[in-house]
Amino acid sequence: MEEMCKSAINKGVSEICFTEHLSVREGDPCFGWLDMDAYGINIEKCRDHFQGSLTIKKGLEIGEPHLSMNKIEPYKTGQNIDFIIGSVHNLDEEDLTVYMQGREQIESYTDYFNEVLLSVTEGDMDVIGHFDLLKRYAFDLNGKYRHGDYEELISEILKKAISRNIGLEINTSGFRSSSLEIFPSQIILKMYMDLGGELLTVGSDSHSANMIGNNIAPVYLMLKQIGFNAVFSYDRRKPTAVNI
Ligand SMILES: [Zn+2]
Repeated sequence: MEEMCKSAINKGVSEICFTEHLSVREGDPCFGWLDMDAYGINIEKCRDHFQGSLTIKKGLEIGEPHLSMNKIEPYKTGQNIDFIIGSVHNLDEEDLTVYMQGREQIESYTDYFNEVLLSVTEGDMDVIGHFDLLKRYAFDLNGKYRHGDYEELISEILKKAISRNIGLEINTSGFRSSSLEIFPSQIILKMYMDLGGELLTVGSDSHSANMIGNNIAPVYLMLKQIGFNAVFSYDRRKPTAVNI
């Protein structure tokens, strides 16, 4: 964690949010890993250490936040969480990469987006994580998806999100996958704006210190071109606009 903070400062990043991954599904590779006490202590240590040079937020990325909500609750209550990303990593208790083997593209994506809709309808989150994540895995298997095939479903997800004050996480890790695109695609961001959505956060989904802050600047430029003027920072789950 300390290395990540140092890397952020070196790259001129002024605020960082850790989003440790929580999965309460037995069988998920992340199941049982998250130790909230240790997490809290590490965050506090880094806050002390980098005081004045870096704002450090404590977040969670929750897999399938609409399922087993009673098991998720203790990770949120009384934990001083700043920010929650809600993600779909599994379908029918299977990892996405496994789920889409042997299925047609249209079936995998329809199931995936339907699950995202369900998670946005019922789950507690601040932003939807890597909206069209499936393309990270599906690209090699069956190429790029056609937005038009899922437009109605995507629009339904966005409307539901807006009605519940849920934003979108723009995740630049897509540049590291063969699709070479951010999650979500620009066309989804444009739809979100046209529907009245404005809550965006930008993250690099860094799993190592050298990836911190990657590709954030070009994303800001792209957002301005679409028509967005701000991204949001979360403190104890309250969003504040930061002009870009
Ligand atoms: Zn994720």
